Amino acid sequence: MAKIGFHFDNSYTSLPERFYSKTNPTPVSSPVLQLFNEGLAEQLGLKVDELKQETNIGILAGNTIPNGGMSIAQAYAGHQFGHFTMLGDGRAILLGEHVSPNGDKFDLQLKGAGITPYSRGGDGRATLGPMLREYIISESMHALGIPTSRSLAVVTTGEQVMRETVLPGAILTRVASSHIRFGTFQYAATFGEEGDVQKLADYTIKRHYPDLEKMDNPYLALLHEVVKRQGNLIAKWQLVGFIHGVMNTDNMTVSGETIDYGPCAFMDEYDPATVFSSIDRQGRYAYGNQPNIGGWNLARFAESLIPLIDEDNDRAVELAQEAISKFPEHFHNHWLKGMCAKLGIYNPEESDEELIKELLELMSQFEADFTNTFRALTFEDRKSLVMFGTEPFQLWENKWQERLKRQKESMSQSVDLMKDNNPAIIPRNHRVEEAINAAVMDDDYSKLFQLLNVLFKPYAHSSDQLEYASLPPKSERPQQTFCGT
Ligand code: AMP
Ligand code: MG
Ligand code: MG
Repeated sequence: MAKIGFHFDNSYTSLPERFYSKTNPTPVSSPVLQLFNEGLAEQLGLKVDELKQETNIGILAGNTIPNGGMSIAQAYAGHQFGHFTMLGDGRAILLGEHVSPNGDKFDLQLKGAGITPYSRGGDGRATLGPMLREYIISESMHALGIPTSRSLAVVTTGEQVMRETVLPGAILTRVASSHIRFGTFQYAATFGEEGDVQKLADYTIKRHYPDLEKMDNPYLALLHEVVKRQGNLIAKWQLVGFIHGVMNTDNMTVSGETIDYGPCAFMDEYDPATVFSSIDRQGRYAYGNQPNIGGWNLARFAESLIPLIDEDNDRAVELAQEAISKFPEHFHNHWLKGMCAKLGIYNPEESDEELIKELLELMSQFEADFTNTFRALTFEDRKSLVMFGTEPFQLWENKWQERLKRQKESMSQSVDLMKDNNPAIIPRNHRVEEAINAAVMDDDYSKLFQLLNVLFKPYAHSSDQLEYASLPPKSERPQQTFCGT
């Protein structure tokens, strides 16, 4: 294993045994490596050629447990669409915590590796389409500069998986700075023993927020930090039109990374009510609701911390509420700064919010594509969208230009800022579907590789990328994504 470059330093098993179950992956018949992320492997200090060798593919399929790994399924609970329930890794197995050459620690997790004590009647497996989808979207999010879990590999298992139809099985190797969820805290608070929440909080602080250790009230400080990270994260989602799709508390991390890519998708036309997930019938997790849900989820996280925050329950509740109440402010500041940057404004002013809202209102009225609107504004391309030819837009544009003239930075500096903040390329649903379908149905990965190449440079603004920025008519676009099963 040393040859491959694994450097395990497992810490999760220092928590009480209730937090996990030692579980081996269920071996699969004929693993074949379909996608491998060489850039990520190198960053992790793994030896690419060694790991890709046929004898070692078994590691990425769960057939071989690497020496020094731990092979556990993690216990957690969570609110799913508002309803609290026990969950846990029902089909994911944590191989170990790997330390990269620069000292950063990452969970290496196999998703789809077989049943665990938390499978609750599920088969523990994953199908190829959704695993390719997670690979594409998570790597695209990373390229967009959004905190996220990464994808190291997708292996097909050679086995069939029963869903509504029979589908090819696959396993994704997911890499994340940890998998500690709001739901892990909820689990400890609801199903754990006295002291468990504190043990988990101490562990979390040590792993993710070591600076808080010496604070007067590290647990309250932890809550404040998590509030801040979530505010930043969800603002970043909004700024690129990303819709997570399943913002259940078990899918929210204390590290502030995006995890668990299921029925997620990017919005095309600007519409706050946009939902792609076929299971989100009420629109609970619609684009425009994501910030509110972020606050709701944080309140559930805070509830589990109450006993640690102060001996006096009333005082603890008060302090927790005060921390939670900062979320809208964090979100808003980050969002406003980001939206201003998308419009070439260096130093946000109060009145900029109105300018932004007016533009969004126009985009909604004229069904303008979110990503392409900002790209077109960056490159002064005023022919590409209907909205640009309208009088209300021209009025808005004059206001915007006036605002830009009032700042000390030059117009060309504004354009530079816009280029860095307005991606030309997002994983468009029709492109993602097309690439996945060719891979799953025809074993043809060429479209997927081409797509990944383009997605890796979302801010390159090179002319050869433009066909990936264009949109077919709405009738030819997928309007739903399905749960990541
Ligand atoms: P998710 O919607 O991906 O966040 O998953 C919710 C819960 O369902 C988690 O506890 C998963 O581990 C579990 N789960 C999803 N699919 C399966 C499956 N095929 N077998 C067992 N558990 C599963
Ligand atoms: Mg999940
Ligand atoms: Mg999932």
